[in-house]
Amino acid sequence: MNERRAIPAEMRRQVLLEAGHRCAIHTCRHTDVEVHHIEPWSRCKEHRLENLIALCPNCHKLVESGKIDRKSLHVYKARLAAQFRFQSEVEVTSEPHKGGWKTTTLNEEGKEPPTYSIGVEYPNFELLPRNKAREVNAIVRGLVFEEVLRFRNAPLCEVIARFGRDSAYLPHCTFSGSFDVAIMKPQILSLRHVFTSYTGGAYSNTHFRSLTFQLAPEVFLVDPYCVFTDHYRGLQLLSEFCVRELCSYFDVSEPFETLLQGAAPSPENYNTFNVHQHGISIDFDEHQLGGKALGAPSVFVPYTVLKGEMNPLCAVYSLM
Ligand SMILES: [Zn+2]
Repeated sequence: MNERRAIPAEMRRQVLLEAGHRCAIHTCRHTDVEVHHIEPWSRCKEHRLENLIALCPNCHKLVESGKIDRKSLHVYKARLAAQFRFQSEVEVTSEPHKGGWKTTTLNEEGKEPPTYSIGVEYPNFELLPRNKAREVNAIVRGLVFEEVLRFRNAPLCEVIARFGRDSAYLPHCTFSGSFDVAIMKPQILSLRHVFTSYTGGAYSNTHFRSLTFQLAPEVFLVDPYCVFTDHYRGLQLLSEFCVRELCSYFDVSEPFETLLQGAAPSPENYNTFNVHQHGISIDFDEHQLGGKALGAPSVFVPYTVLKGEMNPLCAVYSLM
C-alpha cells in the first residue's frame, strides 16, 4: 500500500493538457515539464487530479525548497483550470443570495455521440474583501472545471470503449453538481459540492468534494492536518467516533472489514469534511465503505468530541 504507484496515463495526460504541456506557473511556461504532487506523495499516498500539477525542473526545485508553497500551487492550478474554455458552455448567474454569493450554473450540451448534458452550480462570493473573493472564487471555479473535465474525458472515453462510437445504444450521459455553504463567517468559509454522473448502466455515481477556507489573516485551504495540533491523535479520535457512528448507521454491533478500512485514521478518508457552527461533518463516498449498496453516509462530529486535540492556530478552533 505504501509502495509508490505510477500516475495513471490518462490522469497524467489531463494534467499536461490542462497546462498546455508547459510549466503551470504562468510567468515561467517552460516546456520541459513533469507532473508533480501538490501535497507530497509521502503524505497523500494517492493520485488525485486536483493534487497534480505540471512543473518544470526549476519551479519544482523552488517548491521543494519552500520558496513556492502549496497554497500558491493551488492558485496557479485553479488559474489554469479557469482558463480552459468550454465551447458550448452557457453560464447563468442568479440573483445574489442573502448570504453573500451568487449562484452560477454552467450548462453544456455535448452533441457528438455519446451525447451528454452538464449542469453544475457553483457559488461566486461577493461579500468578502475583493482580493480574498478573487482567490476563493478562482479555487472554487477551478474545482468545478476540473470535475467537468474529468467527466468529459474519462467516463466518456469509457463509454465509447464500452459501446463503440457508432453503437445505436449509446447512453445519453449526464453530469450535475450542486453545492451548499456549511458555514460563512469572517474567518472561515466551508463549502460542500455534490456531483452526480451517469454514463450508462443501472446506476449513477455520486461523489462529494469540499473546500474549507481560512479567510484571515490570509486565505488558505484548511485540511485535516491543520485542524489538529497532533494530526495523528486527531485523526485517531475522529476515526474512533466515526466507526461507532457508522456501526449504528448500518445497525451492526461490530464494524465490518470495509468499514474499518474506509474510516481508518488516514487523511484521505477524511478529505471530504465540512466545518459547521458546532462540529465537523464527514462525507463518506459510496465506494469508500465497501460498495454502492451501502450508500454514502455522512457523520457529524461535535467539537466537544475533538476538544483537546484542536489546533488553536486554525480558524476552526475559534468556533468552539
Ligand atoms: Zn517553471
